Amino acid sequence: MPWQTDRNAYRVWLSEVMLQQTQVATAATYYRRFLERFPDVVHLAAASQDDVLGLWSGLGYYSRARNLHACAREVVTRFGGRFPESVALLVTLPGIGPSTAAAIAAFCFGAREAIFDGNVKRVAARLAAFNADLSKARNERDLQALVQVSTPTSAADMPAFTQGLMDLGATVCTPRAPKCGVCPFERDCAAFQGAGPQAYPVNSRKLLRKRIDSEWLWLSHQGMTWLQNRPASGLWGGLWSPPTLDGLQLTVLTQRFDWQHRAVRLPTIKHVLTHRDWHLNPVCIEVADEEREALADVPDLMPGRWVAGDEWRRMGIPAAVSAFFKVLSAPLSASEALPGR
Ligand code: SF4
Repeated sequence: MPWQTDRNAYRVWLSEVMLQQTQVATAATYYRRFLERFPDVVHLAAASQDDVLGLWSGLGYYSRARNLHACAREVVTRFGGRFPESVALLVTLPGIGPSTAAAIAAFCFGAREAIFDGNVKRVAARLAAFNADLSKARNERDLQALVQVSTPTSAADMPAFTQGLMDLGATVCTPRAPKCGVCPFERDCAAFQGAGPQAYPVNSRKLLRKRIDSEWLWLSHQGMTWLQNRPASGLWGGLWSPPTLDGLQLTVLTQRFDWQHRAVRLPTIKHVLTHRDWHLNPVCIEVADEEREALADVPDLMPGRWVAGDEWRRMGIPAAVSAFFKVLSAPLSASEALPGR
């Protein structure tokens, strides 16, 4: 992969953040795009947040992009544009957790720090047939200690050890269908020799999927669309989108502006997140001239502004919004090809 060709801390950090919730093939495309635009941490720090979010659009989990930007700025202001070498300092930077810090320290500075992400936890639990419940912090610490004592004594071996562990988890010892037949640890793996890989890791914490329903208010006026800048935290944090409201908020607005007869409802779009299904119900309304000024007084729509033509293409917007814009501007009728149907 492109980030494996050198041990530059900026590149390793960028790839680690992108790979946290994204498939390798997708991350590789974004990685190249980011490096073209921001070849080093100084360029990234100097960019506007909107530029960074715009380039990240489509990768999801936008808090990663906000942290990426904030981290770049701190690396420049606190450390003169050079990433610190110790895990203790790396974890003080925004968006860098223990595993990412260990990856940077091990890959770039040869530190004897074991990464401990989901892949590594699974591989380690299987190799050792570690059957304690990982939903308990104490057990997780014990497993981490086991990985830590397995690190090579020579710093020069750390990059290969770290990469090997990550690749094993990502390509061979996968969650659902581990390929034990081609695994170099087949003979020594306690899980394979015993209860089988599927028995590990043990984790009693069950994450239930949650359903969220929102009214998605697409206001237009003479070819412009109203976009709201979403709060920094939460879904699509910091990005621009047509406002998402609950049913009561929409009812109040509809009555205030007498939109009942102008509102056009389009089919629901299901936006799948890690532990949530977000059902967005698009409501399209052409705003009259005399209503336009009054919108600025509606707290539920602020902060926001009218966006003309295809200006949205240069803004930080989620992929679902750009997909919907494309559908609305396509020659065929919107209801024929809505994303998520
Ligand atoms: Fe994973 Fe199977 Fe290899 Fe054990 S032998 S580490 S379970 S792929």
